[in-house]
Amino acid sequence: MDILDVEKSKCIGCGACVSIDDEHFDFDDDGLSEVISNDNLKSERLKDAIESCPTNAIRLAKGDEEFDPENNEAADYNNGATVMASSNLES
Ligand code: SF4
Repeated sequence: MDILDVEKSKCIGCGACVSIDDEHFDFDDDGLSEVISNDNLKSERLKDAIESCPTNAIRLAKGDEEFDPENNEAADYNNGATVMASSNLES
């Protein structure tokens, strides 16, 4: 299962991801981005939102090969190197 997450320590609250993809991102009480959905992770808007983040705070952990990096450049930034800390996204 792929998991989308925002690394809060990197987020500067610029709002780019929220304005591009309000299906997946919204502001939390501190004005930082938070993930509001883990559905539809192949959407073009999500890809654009990930690429727009100036601090690379948005992470997409690939849980399988279904998310083809050949067709989604946004997956390349992480390349499986980041250890996901937000196990609360799994249900
Ligand atoms: S684009 Fe990046 S820095 Fe800006 S609000 Fe979204 S996660 Fe935070």
